[in-house]
Amino acid sequence: MSPPPARVSGSHSGLRLYNTLGRELQEFRPLDPGSVGVYTCGPTVYNYAHIGNLRTYVFEDLLVRTLRYLGYRVRQVMNVTDVGHLTGDADEGEDKMLKSAREQGRTVWEVAEHYSRAFFADLDALNIERPTVVCRATEHIDAMIDLIRRIEAAGYTYFADGNLYFDISMLPDYGKLAGQNLEDLKAGARVEVDPNKRSPLDFVLWFTRSKFEHQAMLWDSPWGRGYPGWHIECSAMAMKYLGEQIDIHCGGIDHIPVHHTNEIAQSEAATGKPWVRYWLHAEFLVMDKARMAKSAGNFLTLAALQEQGFSPQDYRYFCLGAHYRSPLQFSFEALGAAKSARKNLVEGIARLMDDAQAEAASATGAAAALSSFRENLAADLNVPRALADLWGLLRAEGGSAQDRLAGALEMDRVLGLGLDRVEPVREAPLGPELEALIAERTEARKRKDFARADAIRAELARRGVTLEDTPGGVRWRREKG
Ligand code: AMP
Ligand code: ZN
Repeated sequence: MSPPPARVSGSHSGLRLYNTLGRELQEFRPLDPGSVGVYTCGPTVYNYAHIGNLRTYVFEDLLVRTLRYLGYRVRQVMNVTDVGHLTGDADEGEDKMLKSAREQGRTVWEVAEHYSRAFFADLDALNIERPTVVCRATEHIDAMIDLIRRIEAAGYTYFADGNLYFDISMLPDYGKLAGQNLEDLKAGARVEVDPNKRSPLDFVLWFTRSKFEHQAMLWDSPWGRGYPGWHIECSAMAMKYLGEQIDIHCGGIDHIPVHHTNEIAQSEAATGKPWVRYWLHAEFLVMDKARMAKSAGNFLTLAALQEQGFSPQDYRYFCLGAHYRSPLQFSFEALGAAKSARKNLVEGIARLMDDAQAEAASATGAAAALSSFRENLAADLNVPRALADLWGLLRAEGGSAQDRLAGALEMDRVLGLGLDRVEPVREAPLGPELEALIAERTEARKRKDFARADAIRAELARRGVTLEDTPGGVRWRREKG
């Protein structure tokens, strides 16, 4: 197998990423050459993740694997929002964690634990590498309180009717991530119901007065007993594990105008420094022309796909077929096509393993495909084309099987299709009669009796067995069907 790529040092890796902040393709240069800090917003654990959410996590896995493949050391941090009502800014409607707990006869803590386990089981099934750090919101309330105190000390807050608000009018560039001015952002915001807000875009940093009843998760704070606002957990935990300035922050595109905009506002208010250098956002998985969403009721889980006979790897393969910045239309037909393509891929790898085992010596057969693969990844993660490079390698005629296999497995360090776990094809033995014919043909060839050799080859072909003369000797394969 070829050696892993050299570590990135002073020079850069050639990686270009589309930065939502600025809306352009930019050369990637981390703060500390050679190592990258990545923060990925994690799940809210009051329900199972749907396959739309999982598309975003597959994208983030491809990003982290690509960074590692290009030679960077990566530290990836993901939060788990286990404070149930924090699914939006609104202090209204229902507490989803509490509702789930009531329906299931469990405590909110048990609900969080259950869905958190289910979430990581989904990630494992999709061959998504575990983040370096997984942090739970409920275990970081102190860090959130400390950060809110800094924001307050810097003068960006006001207190009204029991809750502490962030005052967005203090930040002239508040709308920079969404690329919108305040008026546009306000127009996009939902009808405001909280009369205590000075601007509808202001948001709560700490609640002591909630419209939710029977709140189970409450903590003491300088502003009274209550719970944190939605956005503060990501800023506090990202800073705790990655420092005050971060290379990459990701999530789905729905997070741009509110959640990530507010993360930037409060973080930059606290530190006075630019917070995240590259913001990457994944487009939606859509079904029946609508974004897949829990609230829209059009969602499917990984388990639902499995019930229909699809493996998590089929879904991963399906996701690899679209660039992360394109919407991906889900249908069972399209998933079916991905499933058969993946099956062909696995069979191709199995045959390649077989051929590689039989091959006498190895030459260099994969270098061009690997170089194209690397270039495609470096171009803002063009995974569909990188996948085509893998197919090209598999279909290449003539190259050394060992090298092509090594190249394919190297590519799979990024694609994560579990190709290293494929078993070489081991076909059932031919049986003494056919074996004897093959031996007779070998003898005929030695005697240069090509007429007899060809007749035997034709006879075997009639009986569904194809012969191939390789430097390592004659090899046979049963025709399918
Ligand atoms: P949530 O649990 O709602 O915070 O969502 C988890 C992640 O999935 C976030 O990064 C969302 O932006 C993302 N997401 C939500 N809906 C979709 C969708 N239909 N397609 C792709 N990603 C999504
Ligand atoms: Zn977040």
